Amino acid sequence: MNALAATSRNFKQAAKLLGLDSKLEKSLLIPFREIKVECTIPKDDGTLASYVGFRVQHDNARGPMKGGIRYHHEVDPDEVNALAQLMTWKTAVANIPYGGAKGGIGCSPGELSISELERLTRVFTQKIHDLIGIHTDVPAPDMGTNSQTMAWILDEYSKFHGYSPAVVTGKPVDLGGSLGRDAATGRGVLFATEALLAEHGKGIAGQRFVIQILFDFFPKKPNDDPCMLCLAFQGFGNVGSWAAQLISEAGGKVIAISDVTGAVKNSNGLDITKLMKHSSENRGIKGFDGGDAIDPRSLLTEECDVLIPAALGGVINKDNANDIKAKYIIEAANHPTDPEADEILSKKGVLILPDILANSGGVTVSYFEWVQNIQGFMWDEEKVNTELKTYMTRGFRDVKEMCRSHHCDLRMGAFTLGVNRVARATVLRGWEA
Ligand code: GLU
Repeated sequence: MNALAATSRNFKQAAKLLGLDSKLEKSLLIPFREIKVECTIPKDDGTLASYVGFRVQHDNARGPMKGGIRYHHEVDPDEVNALAQLMTWKTAVANIPYGGAKGGIGCSPGELSISELERLTRVFTQKIHDLIGIHTDVPAPDMGTNSQTMAWILDEYSKFHGYSPAVVTGKPVDLGGSLGRDAATGRGVLFATEALLAEHGKGIAGQRFVIQILFDFFPKKPNDDPCMLCLAFQGFGNVGSWAAQLISEAGGKVIAISDVTGAVKNSNGLDITKLMKHSSENRGIKGFDGGDAIDPRSLLTEECDVLIPAALGGVINKDNANDIKAKYIIEAANHPTDPEADEILSKKGVLILPDILANSGGVTVSYFEWVQNIQGFMWDEEKVNTELKTYMTRGFRDVKEMCRSHHCDLRMGAFTLGVNRVARATVLRGWEA
């Protein structure tokens, strides 16, 4: 099932549980605005190349629209639409004053040089600059983009509107980015997992984790400025790698990890620090000698307690759901589980912590970044992490409350919570033209 059909199906189920008015339901589903632009850039070899860029602004009832921009060859309008919708529910679950949006450019960032990526980002920004803004729509990094991409957007946007750091989040700290933003999604995954396990009288320590990460976006032909090089390499596929590091620091046993280059397993627990060092030096985990190489396709069905998909959407589907042995699935990626797999896993008694709660740490610290920029006052990292824990724990508690009152699973608990908050804001703001 494609991402849009799956997300809309979950939304409709939540709307039914909430008894939402059918006209309100329809209006919440249709995006506020869909933008499609052509971005033509000269390549380093002098030839021209065109890429299609999208920004879907889904809803702004609760505040400025918010969401990442992804660079990936599979980006398509339906997927961006689904991801924008998920952002609306996610910001509402986190209870931060935002709506939802998502953008993307259909390109393979690993095949572009850093200068080509910069030109592409600047052209995309030129095409959308008058539709984004501090109080309208605030982009952030997503798959295939990072703090450097945000720096280029900020610079290009500022040429038209004056210097405006709060127009993007996930910026480099030197340009007003928040301390702790880089690790935020992974740290939020840790806090959400702790909250879920605590409900079952368990802690992170001693549990066996399997994590699917994404490490495939290294720009080709980096220019030789070492500063640019290190910035450009940071943050590609970092959700899973941060989650792995933090979980292992908290005493969790990470027994298997995969990325696009391969998969590695060690039943006694992988040395995550060594694995990450190997990964950044060798552009992937392939060849790591601290465990046995396994078939990446079998990773999701490895024997473990907690499975964390932190890569692409739709990876858990009807073809592999029956073979999954984990007791808990923490959705660090957006939309990793198909509704068909949801049904199979629910019958097997597997508990799934849904994306719109599990990975909301990233956008939550984006909110902290935006607040710091607007206030002109920088928080220390400890404050960021403490506040993040408060928000993640509160999100989990609010979702559980919806599960109890609507007799539903965690995904529907999160969807009913998010949809209900957005519906209430919509009705309060009224319909008068
Ligand atoms: N791309 C991230 C997400 O999917 C972060 C979005 C943001 O910080 O605005 O949640």
